[in-house]
Amino acid sequence: MGAAVAASGQWHDDDGVRMPAGDAHAWLPGHNQTVCGVPLSRAGLRVFPHVPWEYRDTDVLGPNDRVGHVCEHCLAALRPRRRRGEKAGWTRTSPRP
Ligand SMILES: [Zn+2]
Repeated sequence: MGAAVAASGQWHDDDGVRMPAGDAHAWLPGHNQTVCGVPLSRAGLRVFPHVPWEYRDTDVLGPNDRVGHVCEHCLAALRPRRRRGEKAGWTRTSPRP
């Protein structure tokens, strides 16, 4: 479904590509809020349509990461689905308009 990243800050990598920094949320292109329901404009979040949402619960942010915090609500909402029959800890699907 192609979720991308929205974040409270940004930086430019060596190629001049805009990259997220600060607090990161998942964002679905075309929406005016994050997956967890934070309004982009009110929260001052920038969107990064070219940066796919690839965070996982198991990710450990290192000292070189500019992203300081990944939203756990967005992580949970976009957690890869387990195979049927496995214990599901989260059943809510991401909100759609
Ligand atoms: Zn979020």
